[in-house]
Amino acid sequence: MSVAASSAPPAAALADVGRVAVASLPGVGPAAAHKLAALGLHELQDLWFHLPLRYEDRTRLTPIAELQVGGCAQVVGRVSAVERGFRFRPQLRVALQDDSAATLTLRLFHFQRAQAERFVPGARVLCHGEVRHGQYGLEFIHPEYRILPEAAPVLLPECLTPVYPTTAGIGQQRIGAIVARALERLPDEAALELIPPALRHETGLASLRDSLLTLHRPPRDADVAALLAGRHPAQRRLAFEELLAHHLGLRQLRERVRARRAHALAGGGGLAQRLRAALPFALTTAQQRVAAQIDADLARSTPMLRLVQGDVGSGKTVLAALAAARAIEAGTQVALVAPTELLAEQHLQTLQAWFTPLGIAPVWLAGKVAGRARGNALAAVAAGAPLVVGTHALMQEAVTFARLGLVIVDEQHRFGVHQRLSLSEKGRQGDLVPHQLVLTATPIPRTLAMAAYADLDVSVVDELPPGRTPVRTVLVSAARRAEVVARIREACGQGRQAYWVCTLIEEAEVAEAGPSRASDAQAAQVAWQELGAALPGLRVGLVHGRLKPRDKQATMQAFKAGELDVLVATTVIEVGVDVPNASLMVIDNAERLGLAQLHQLRGRVGRGAQASSCVLLYQGPLSALARARLQVLRETSDGFRIAEKDLELRGPGEVLGTRQTGAVEFRIADLARDGELLPLVQRVGARLREQAPEAAQRIVARWVGAAVHYAGA
Ligand code: ADP
Ligand code: MG
Repeated sequence: MSVAASSAPPAAALADVGRVAVASLPGVGPAAAHKLAALGLHELQDLWFHLPLRYEDRTRLTPIAELQVGGCAQVVGRVSAVERGFRFRPQLRVALQDDSAATLTLRLFHFQRAQAERFVPGARVLCHGEVRHGQYGLEFIHPEYRILPEAAPVLLPECLTPVYPTTAGIGQQRIGAIVARALERLPDEAALELIPPALRHETGLASLRDSLLTLHRPPRDADVAALLAGRHPAQRRLAFEELLAHHLGLRQLRERVRARRAHALAGGGGLAQRLRAALPFALTTAQQRVAAQIDADLARSTPMLRLVQGDVGSGKTVLAALAAARAIEAGTQVALVAPTELLAEQHLQTLQAWFTPLGIAPVWLAGKVAGRARGNALAAVAAGAPLVVGTHALMQEAVTFARLGLVIVDEQHRFGVHQRLSLSEKGRQGDLVPHQLVLTATPIPRTLAMAAYADLDVSVVDELPPGRTPVRTVLVSAARRAEVVARIREACGQGRQAYWVCTLIEEAEVAEAGPSRASDAQAAQVAWQELGAALPGLRVGLVHGRLKPRDKQATMQAFKAGELDVLVATTVIEVGVDVPNASLMVIDNAERLGLAQLHQLRGRVGRGAQASSCVLLYQGPLSALARARLQVLRETSDGFRIAEKDLELRGPGEVLGTRQTGAVEFRIADLARDGELLPLVQRVGARLREQAPEAAQRIVARWVGAAVHYAGA
């Protein structure tokens, strides 16, 4: 937040009451401010945007006779009996009756004597609690209650009562009071609304001030169902502004990079042409189109920022190679970075095969390259070696390039925005930065791409190379494992190869347990032994993340060369691995993986001419939702449709794979729910940047905390 403050125009910051520290509120001392900071609440405006999780309705009373078990309700009644007792622990039971003549029991386990003594028969009590079945009919356990003075009218709030996210040491009442105090300082519409009135009018969205007040204090007739579903117009207004802020932040980032210069890589065409001529296939129309877009970008002296999106197997590698050839023939260096060592190695092999005949030997530089080999590689890069391939580690280390002109990042979604930026910094020479080409095999739904990659131009390779046969996908219960093994035997008997993918644990669990994939690797180990025993005469190999890179590579190589029939693997093979003769894939515990990930895995087969199949083994019984999810894979092989479904079912963090990197995190917006707002976000964003750049800046600061998210830009 301090970063945000320093990057906003000083005049605006001074005038902006929202930027005042929370400690300036009466009753908020340093200790409370510290606790609020733990909730991300630093400034007044953070409190304004600290929205309730849910609401309680205390605007009305429910007759005791009409209470429904399970819900919360508010009741006024008279004490008809009191009993203090001790069964296992002290307890106070108070019977209440109202005009409906029914009885409700209040039960307290923690109470003081003075407290107990105030419940005298005939006293009037207002209480709010959750209705439960008790021993003697309906009861409230530890309700909130107040003893009402005789004859005083019952005063009920006119608004629903908000329930806020809170933290240790700050109770619900306290945070509610603090937010209420902050809201007293909510400026008038003109000062709060950053979108110019004419523009806001066009959007048809509600006013920001009204929306905030509605959400903090919904009137008693508010549409509670809509509020709880996050679809109330007031919530849409806020979601819109948050998406807008995010979009504008990424655009600013893009402008910052674009303000730099890049080498204009308009080569003579010699190398790229020779590479193209030597390829064993002709480019698809989609590949030709995207290659031309990349060429046009590279020829400019502004840095390229392009995302190439294409389904698994759509042939993105060759586009990277052609771009590399372009950069090399123009006399600059190219770095190709992949997220895993395995994938980087595979690229190395592909590029070696394509470039070595053209007289260019790629340099290999991953984290594990050590000793003299490392020294040699570093020296070669510093001396201007044209093509360097490696993992992201190579960008973080003391690697210096002589003249880096192009950075290619494969499988972008695994890297966060800030990582991508560090790449560009790496190649910076004075004002010159390298061009950036980003490849992703995760078909990102359009809506998501617009929000997550607003700083990139997007190209789509929407066509698969010819001659692919669709993969037949079946769901099989793990109880029928033996049949599946028999199928492997049969396929391998016909000279085909098969993958057996073990997915014992989910990514989330891995993330929590640290980088070691012990259990995953163990599961693969066990499956490898079992399959080896069940398939005598077949050669079964094993790869998982805990093997030495050299061993992994040797096994992959053997599988690729046909020296292994079956490859047991963890999801390390998910990305990029290419073995056209493999036509059968079994995915164990398929129900544990996301659709996009399953689709990626499945993309490893169906690369050759023969019919391929994918068996999704599940641990029964499947829930209806799990079955519905897996059915999607049976029904379509269109990565974009699958991604849309995944987005619907799992949310954007999962689809983008950003849960770990934290690249996209929204407070209010939900891309699956609010994605339809994105075209409007883009339109309004463009107008704002043009007509009110300072307001745009302040919207970013308000929501994104400016540079916090895009650190290193
Ligand atoms: P991905 O987009 O998943 O990275 P790859 O670049 O690995 O896909 O390409 C998958 C396979 O398709 C590779 O074996 C590649 O050589 C081949 N390929 C790429 N383009 C074509 C094409 N136009 N015609 C035929 N095969 C192609
Ligand atoms: Mg690839």
